[in-house]
Amino acid sequence: MYNSEKAESNISSAALINALRQFLPDESVLFEQEDLKPYECDGLSAYQAVPLAVAIPDSIKQLKAILSVCYENDVPVVARGAGTGLSGGALPHENGVLLSLAKFNQILSIDEENMCAVVQPGVRNLAISEAVQDYGLFYAPDPSSQIACSIGGNVAENAGGVHCLKYGLTVHNIIKLKVITIDGDELTIGCDAFDSPGYDLLALLTGSEGMLAIITEITVKLLPVPALAKVMMASFDDIAVAGQAVSDVIARGIIPAGLELMDNAALRAADDFIQAGYPPDAAAILLCEIDGSIEEVDDQLQLAEKILKQAGATEIQIAKDEAQRMQFWAGRKAAFPAVGRLSPDYYCMDGTIPRHQIASVLNRISELSDEYGQTVVNVFHAGDGNLHPLILFDANNEGELERTEELGGKILDYCVEVGGTITGEHGVGIEKINQMCGQFNSSEITQFHNIKIAFDEKQLLNPGKNIPTLQRCAEFGAMHVHHGELPFPELERF
Ligand SMILES: Cc1cc2nc3c(=O)[nH]c(=O)nc-3n(C[C@H](O)[C@H](O)[C@H](O)COP(=O)(O)OP(=O)(O)OC[C@H]3O[C@@H](n4cnc5c(N)ncnc54)[C@H](O)[C@@H]3O)c2cc1C
Repeated sequence: MYNSEKAESNISSAALINALRQFLPDESVLFEQEDLKPYECDGLSAYQAVPLAVAIPDSIKQLKAILSVCYENDVPVVARGAGTGLSGGALPHENGVLLSLAKFNQILSIDEENMCAVVQPGVRNLAISEAVQDYGLFYAPDPSSQIACSIGGNVAENAGGVHCLKYGLTVHNIIKLKVITIDGDELTIGCDAFDSPGYDLLALLTGSEGMLAIITEITVKLLPVPALAKVMMASFDDIAVAGQAVSDVIARGIIPAGLELMDNAALRAADDFIQAGYPPDAAAILLCEIDGSIEEVDDQLQLAEKILKQAGATEIQIAKDEAQRMQFWAGRKAAFPAVGRLSPDYYCMDGTIPRHQIASVLNRISELSDEYGQTVVNVFHAGDGNLHPLILFDANNEGELERTEELGGKILDYCVEVGGTITGEHGVGIEKINQMCGQFNSSEITQFHNIKIAFDEKQLLNPGKNIPTLQRCAEFGAMHVHHGELPFPELERF
């Protein structure tokens, strides 16, 4: 069970529900246990908490009224998009309101000429590309969860995906946000032009994990659908060799529209699940997609094939038609649920490392997997150096979750050691909050808190997530040590 570190509300649960029902229809305020249960976790189901109420507004007026009740009564508010997050970001607060943005699901306008669209936060990621395909446009960031996850959740997590190597993360593909702060201020961040003056609050809000404001409208950039896209599957008999090949391709000036790595366990699981046509005996495969004009694609594909062979690929297969291309990608997109069939539970990590370290980190993961006697499956955005080790475990066995978390922590520590970060795209949430203490020093964490307080003085938005308290870091014993000086030496270590 999750226990937050902050927030004591000054209203009873009955009074809170009553206050919400003053301006929300009955079906938009959930408070019975059986109605609250479906909201008790996000994609990180190891952590669960039931909120006092779930509020599901369908207008800005209702949304502001909910925030006002919570602000006046010191009630924590956790925003929720589609709940597909993997770091516990949308995990409810047990003394708070879970604010669902599900009814903000309209595409408000499509501007073909300026290649952008204005959408509400509850719109599904894939629905944007579907809505603009007749104009020959698409929205580039494509998380593997794109059939379900919301664009509001994508902004709050700065989501990535297969396309992000070439086209950038969410932050590179939005130009303007409308947000509402906990005390009811409506802010427009960014603008319709290429650049806007002042601090880059658009970047600050992107990836802020529901801690600074509620995102109510997003202007996304759209791109022309490339004339041609082709995917090549390269097989390897050693995963570390496949990892090194990733750097080799990019170092030669090719920026694939996707460069994904799957190890043997991942590719077998995906193949069993949706028959993607993967070679079952390969130690690893790389899916390398090139898009652009017909000439560009053919040239770059030939060069990439040569580089991959030189790097040690044992077999190369170029998808013969669009159907086979989609089949190769379907296997990759279904890899997470496919791995879910291998064991009762898995824990999805999300470290990012400099590309040239992929081989070394994969070797270290393999050593740790042996040491802990736990299978780790690798399927990830290799071109971005964004690893997703999936640690298999069974939460029914006592102590196994804790052991898994420890193993995951060691993988993330190693990512930081080689110059990487503890998260690439899934966010910190509750899952990686302790690792933040190792990634940042106390001055840096203090600046994060200052920013939080500038937006949310009462610390009501998503408390206990994303940014650890200094006390927590001291207790965790992993506070970043700067020039050999332990910060806060007076604090007792437990
Ligand atoms: C099978 C699977 C595959 C995945 N693949 C990828 C991948 O390839 N790339 C990737 O980046 N992620 C991936 N994810 C993780 C997840 O889908 C993303 O993090 C996604 O952006 C979450 O969107 P959501 O709508 O589900 O947000 P939620 O899980 O509901 O919320 C995520 C965070 O955003 C906040 N939030 C949500 N809406 C708002 C809002 N309107 N205003 C303010 N804060 C808000 C929440 O408070 C929470 O902190 C995957 C998840 C699954 C289950």
